[in-house]
Amino acid sequence: MRIAADYLKNNKKYVINLLAGLIEIPTINPPGENYEEMVSFLERECRLLGLTTRKYVTPDRVLDKFGINAGSRRISLVADLDIGAEKVLHINSHYDVVPATDKWDTDPFKAVVKAGRIYGRGSEDMKGNIASVLFALKALKDSRIIPKINIQLSFTPDEEIGGRTGLGYLVDEGLVRADYAMSEGYSGDYISIGNKGVLWADIEVIGRSAHGSTPHKGVNSFERMNLLVNELVKLKNRISKRKTRYSMRDAASRSATFVMGGMTQGGIKANVVPGVTRFSIDRRLIPEENINKAKEEIAVIIKKFNRRYKDSKVRIRFSSQEKPAISRKDTAFFKIVSDSVEKVAGKRANFSVMPGATDMRYFMWKGIPALGYSASGGEKWHSDNEFVSIDSLVDTSTVFALIMSQLS
Ligand SMILES: [Zn+2]
Repeated sequence: MRIAADYLKNNKKYVINLLAGLIEIPTINPPGENYEEMVSFLERECRLLGLTTRKYVTPDRVLDKFGINAGSRRISLVADLDIGAEKVLHINSHYDVVPATDKWDTDPFKAVVKAGRIYGRGSEDMKGNIASVLFALKALKDSRIIPKINIQLSFTPDEEIGGRTGLGYLVDEGLVRADYAMSEGYSGDYISIGNKGVLWADIEVIGRSAHGSTPHKGVNSFERMNLLVNELVKLKNRISKRKTRYSMRDAASRSATFVMGGMTQGGIKANVVPGVTRFSIDRRLIPEENINKAKEEIAVIIKKFNRRYKDSKVRIRFSSQEKPAISRKDTAFFKIVSDSVEKVAGKRANFSVMPGATDMRYFMWKGIPALGYSASGGEKWHSDNEFVSIDSLVDTSTVFALIMSQLS
């Protein structure tokens, strides 16, 4: 290791103080608060490290498209360490956090350092990682190590509401550069290489309502829904046999999934034959699946059902869809990341697909080799008493410093 072996361990104070400063700016989303203050804070830190910075404000037309009409202006910060190399390693972190309940043992927006942990909303998801990335750059700077690759950082809002108005916007508009990218993902000895896709649908079964005493005058949408659900269960059974060839941290998650009835709705009164019954579908796709095919599989069953039962009508509306994401393989990049992780974790590194999505998918969809790796604590993202472990901050910084100093 070219980095003074103990530098990161001996200078922990930097990362702890930096993270405390970040936690104490409550960038709560929704609605998205204090973004300007956060970006100014980060801009100052980046400049102290010798990076050049620029800001991008997500325009109204993009905000309108995704229904954002409250909260701060959406600002992203991009910071460059340009050493005149050919390629760019881009490291992204989101700075927004989910709201906190009143069930915390400590003030969620005041960093509390206790027993090797830092408590606070966003400590783990993912302000701790912001601190780790900057700490890695500080370690290189103070150790006078010049990377062999240009480094570009981005700090973006709105990951917690999908990221389309944060990193998604920057990537779509070509405002960031990345030959290799890293963003939120696993930690320790796990590295994420992708995430499942997701398809949400609302199904509406329309029958005909009637008085409960004369049900022959109606068509019971609830009973029809149950017949339809039986057909869909057959599809579910077929789908759940599909397993990705990629590894997943929880092996049981390797299957594609199909969940019905997360939301159900219908009927108005016990003595009325229900005329309309609705239910939801949450379909998760493995990286090998195609979203249009997944839609078609459901649509075919509904078409058949409608042909069979002419006195009722089933309608489907896909309310949300995102194709699966998987990183383009790049042998050299993958090897440097896994070697760095192994050196620090002292274990074999695992490349795994995540069941849920993070902002790294925006790079993956563009065919950029991208890996997810970030600091962690108790895996209490979005819960009360969220924390990050100080060891993880230091280890993650060490991993980043190793990657930054070796990748070219
Ligand atoms: Zn996050």
